[in-house]
Amino acid sequence: MTYVIGKPCVDVMDRACVEECPVDCIYEGARALYIHPDECVDCGACEPVCPVEAIYYEDDLPDEFEAYKDDNDAFFSETLPGRDEPLGSPGGAAKLGPVAADAPLVASLPPQQP
Ligand code: SF4
Ligand code: SF4
Repeated sequence: MTYVIGKPCVDVMDRACVEECPVDCIYEGARALYIHPDECVDCGACEPVCPVEAIYYEDDLPDEFEAYKDDNDAFFSETLPGRDEPLGSPGGAAKLGPVAADAPLVASLPPQQP
């Protein structure tokens, strides 16, 4: 099980959640952040600090954000534009740094209004 970042993060990305994560498993893409489904330890520390309520436990995802579970996973399991291979399990977002690409669903969205 894992926590998932949904649509409200897109084009917001204030990174408040990153500061809370004890295992550094929240990774930065170009337009959104993504939780690594295997590295997340389900502590829940990130969820209440998100100012736009983008973070949900996967079983609690509203229907409208259900597709973001697979999209968070795809950020790591699929080869993103401009990269040669999937990110896989980097073992820490800080050492990887921001990734200049997004998972397919996030990348397909028009610019989100604040
Ligand atoms: S639930 Fe905990 S481990 Fe998982 S992303 Fe949030 S802060 Fe990190
Ligand atoms: S706190 Fe919420 S809006 Fe901010 S980066 Fe994390 S998921 Fe995105």
